[in-house]
Amino acid sequence: MPAPLDPVSYPDAAQRYRRFIQQVFPSSLAEQNPQAANNEAGPDSELEMQARWFAGEFGRNFTSTDGKKVEIIQFGHWNHSTGPDFTESAVSIDGHKKNGSIEIELEASSWERHGHAANPAFENVVLHVFLANSQNPQRFFTRTAQNHEVTQVSIDWLNLDDWGPRPWNHLPEARLGRCAAPLRGMDDDKLTSLITAAAQYRLQKKTQRLVAAAQIHGSNEALFQALAAALGFTHNQLPMRVLAQRLPLKSLLPLAKLDCEARLFGAAGYIELDSFENSDDEKTRSYLKELWQNWWQVRDLLQSPAERQLNWHLSGIRPLNHPQRRLGALVAVVNHWQEFRSTLTHCEQDPVTALKNLKHYFSSLQHPYWNRHYTLRSKPSEKSMALIGRDRLQDILGNVLFPWLMREQNVAWQPYTHLPASQINQKLRRAVLRLFGSDEAARENAHRNTHHFYQQQALLQIYSDFCLEDSSECQDCPFPEQLSQW
Ligand code: SF4
Repeated sequence: MPAPLDPVSYPDAAQRYRRFIQQVFPSSLAEQNPQAANNEAGPDSELEMQARWFAGEFGRNFTSTDGKKVEIIQFGHWNHSTGPDFTESAVSIDGHKKNGSIEIELEASSWERHGHAANPAFENVVLHVFLANSQNPQRFFTRTAQNHEVTQVSIDWLNLDDWGPRPWNHLPEARLGRCAAPLRGMDDDKLTSLITAAAQYRLQKKTQRLVAAAQIHGSNEALFQALAAALGFTHNQLPMRVLAQRLPLKSLLPLAKLDCEARLFGAAGYIELDSFENSDDEKTRSYLKELWQNWWQVRDLLQSPAERQLNWHLSGIRPLNHPQRRLGALVAVVNHWQEFRSTLTHCEQDPVTALKNLKHYFSSLQHPYWNRHYTLRSKPSEKSMALIGRDRLQDILGNVLFPWLMREQNVAWQPYTHLPASQINQKLRRAVLRLFGSDEAARENAHRNTHHFYQQQALLQIYSDFCLEDSSECQDCPFPEQLSQW
């Protein structure tokens, strides 16, 4: 068992890990780690970049490509139809406020390639945001059909470390890493302190992201978006998060339950006129019919055109984790939102003892259809199934609720360290293999350092900071040598 953790150490250990990273990569990662700059750059998709932008992960203050001070006053709304990505935004450019739309793209030149320069729907774009591309530094000017120049902001993704993992690097080989030997040689106290520090650092970054989203959209929306993403874990985090961003909680809460549910399932792309007519199951037919009767009335407003529709990842997903069931769980959360917030408020006042109420809240959520169905096509199950099972609850607690409580409650660090480990996913398995190895001694070491949630998070953080930044098969990775400084 690891040594007991000092409850007052948060966030001191996080600062120590931050200093450690800064020592290893003293200036920008791009300068220090040239391989990183040569990796195939860019988020997995434009949709991901848009979701992170809207959540405030890139911040709200920028310098434009021509040196002007840019501040995002309002991030606006996701566009449900064709045209720029975000509408009704407001930006300040060198102190002058401009209202209009914002377009986000992976590459500056997509503006021309996608035909925006000739499309009148893009005439009111006030900001064009894209990723910096060190491979192609050629200056590109963004112009509208009427030849107005649009202010540009270029996001330097290599220097976004403070805003969370860059998900767009290569995936290192699943094999033993060079640091396994020094890690094995570390005494228990040192290893525990490294793991504690990396876990605190990761927790602090999650808190920062939630706080940034809350500053932009308010605490309800920030929590709603984060809960939706946690319910989409692992493969459908992005579509769930985007769905919650496109249908803000404030637009759902005043609605009747079925109307709210119809919007979520409809905007997710799951309601079509013929879907209920073709169903063999009586319950499914009547459920989908009710949803359809609400959805068709708002469909023209809320249904995204083909190029903006959400892509749900279904391959390899167990029926219990099908995104439709997860959406059913999100509906249940929205239906009991006030109860959730008041339970969370109790936790904010007393996280140590009130946590069991939050666990009780999530594990008692019910839905008359989704308690007995895996998908909209499956036959009803004989037994009722939990909407949010143990693993989902662990992830919601560890990835959303504790980071939220840690805004002001350092005392929540201690109960956080008691959270049991969550299910081991492919990324964690890879991290454990690289950092500890796979022989018997390594397995024992790995077991001791992965049976709590915070330990798993620490290993993921080290993996993200070092393995994902390395493209030299460990040869140029500074982590093994730097371990002696810990
Ligand atoms: S890349 Fe670095 S941290 Fe990752 S396994 Fe290799 S030596 Fe260890």
